[in-house]
Amino acid sequence: MYDRWNRKIDYMRISVTDRCNLRCRYCMPEKIDLVPMGEILRYEEILEVCREAVDLGITRFKITGGEPLVRLGCTDLICRLKKMDGVDQVTLTTNGILLYEKIEALKDAGIDGINISLDTLDPVKYEAITGYHGLDKVMRSIHASLNAGLKIKINSVLLPGENEEDWEDLLGLARDLPLDVRFIELMPIGFGKGRSCFSNDQLMERIRNRYPGITPDPGRHGNGPAVYYRIPGFNGSLGLISAVHGRFCSSCNRIRLTSTGDLKPCLCYEDRISVKDAVRAGDRDKVRTLLRSAVDAKPRMHHFEEDRAVTESRKMVQIGG
Ligand code: SAM
Ligand code: SF4
Repeated sequence: MYDRWNRKIDYMRISVTDRCNLRCRYCMPEKIDLVPMGEILRYEEILEVCREAVDLGITRFKITGGEPLVRLGCTDLICRLKKMDGVDQVTLTTNGILLYEKIEALKDAGIDGINISLDTLDPVKYEAITGYHGLDKVMRSIHASLNAGLKIKINSVLLPGENEEDWEDLLGLARDLPLDVRFIELMPIGFGKGRSCFSNDQLMERIRNRYPGITPDPGRHGNGPAVYYRIPGFNGSLGLISAVHGRFCSSCNRIRLTSTGDLKPCLCYEDRISVKDAVRAGDRDKVRTLLRSAVDAKPRMHHFEEDRAVTESRKMVQIGG
């Protein structure tokens, strides 16, 4: 399916919950009002939306949240989605706290890859950033996933003055282990609004100084806008997701489905189209029309660099990052 700007839209990010077991400073530092469970799409309803999306040409799905693994039955959803005709790829984004307990189930479900969010390797800083003393569990999850032969990417957000120096330890994971480490620029969404962003240009300058032999990695690593690099002697690659300063909108390939059944054409803007009533009424044609409308409503680009242009007022944990 193509949008108005001739971009091929074949990827959907699905948030299955607005709940989370962490309190990351820039995402959900305090408890926010949670949506009543009745407002959240049931798995059967999510699968109905996916069926129509597949018919329209969306073949790759990412399960996210909130923390997707706090919702009971998430691995079963992944299993059913993987088995759906026309689905090429199902991946997961998680904070890794509960992951190690579910590795076998996810592997059996046929998961195609897992992104694990991790902003520091220092246990004290980890607790300061996430509000939970849980670094050991995340590390255990990383090793368990690799031992199970799963494809792993680490996603890190660097906060100026807090963990900006931690890039080197985090990147060291890609030296020591067969995984990619990706740095995502903090977006001015939710609790990220008004915070300064450590730009990937600044980061790259430091990385080049430390690793002068770094070269672009032309291989395809995933569905997203990350730009990859190889560093001599490293097992995995470095990825940069320059969400604010990079102009990657021309290759945007996605729409989002929130846990409450809203389709979001772009993260930057508040615009949303609800499919909940249509899916609950079993009106498949309407669901399909709404999916098409969400793709048609995709703007040409975001304007994260200009605070006033960002009209999205909900938190990342409510949208699905
Ligand atoms: N709980 C899961 C996790 O942490 O991976 C999935 C949801 S979380 C919202 C997905 C990703 O969004 C995490 O990697 C997190 O660091 C990132 N994130 C949250 N708020 C952000 C912001 N304002 N800018 C950039 N990334 C953000
Ligand atoms: Fe939870 Fe992920 Fe947000 Fe952290 S980034 S608060 S783990 S949803």
